[in-house]
Amino acid sequence: MGETSAVRRPPSDVRRHSRYAIGVGSNRGDRAGTIALARSLLEADGACRVVAASQVRETTPVGGPGGQDAYLNGVWLVETDLGPHQLLHRLQTIESALGRVRTMRWGARTLDLDVLLCEDGQVVSSAVLDVPHPRLHGRAFVLDGLAEVAPHWRHPVIGRSVAELHRDLCG
Ligand code: ADP
Ligand code: MG
Repeated sequence: MGETSAVRRPPSDVRRHSRYAIGVGSNRGDRAGTIALARSLLEADGACRVVAASQVRETTPVGGPGGQDAYLNGVWLVETDLGPHQLLHRLQTIESALGRVRTMRWGARTLDLDVLLCEDGQVVSSAVLDVPHPRLHGRAFVLDGLAEVAPHWRHPVIGRSVAELHRDLCG
């Protein structure tokens, strides 16, 4: 008697959101359409929410075989209860769904989704996932977007804020 429909969770069971920065890139086909669709797929079941999105910028490919088309790149801040490996798996499922075929590293891709950084400073180093992303502090196209949406987040290994890393690289 007296039971209400409200479920009371004990404090230890409170769901804790984490925020991750996700790097998004596309250099093939309908690049803007692909990026928009990827966002819809990511948010489709409510497990992930994009709480901020940088401008999408056109950037010249770096490190590739040459002659590639320009990329569109952006950064999303995603709020989720998923852990970092679960999030990576989701991103890879979306990459596959939107037609990315992994032929060549650095090669053309319909869609590239990378976990860049976690707001709470967690460091992941596994066979399939490194967070912070190992190349984030050397890529202007990543730091441009990241500095827009998360200037105060800190790189837990380098010990500098995103705004500082952006200044270090881009002046
Ligand atoms: P890149 O994004 O560096 O151009 P790929 O997208 O082809 O290269 O990813 C290659 C592998 O990198 C993936 O299979 C994934 O397991 C691994 N990886 C390691 N750390 C990350 C990360 N932070 N975000 C995304 N993928 C990562
Ligand atoms: Mg990638």
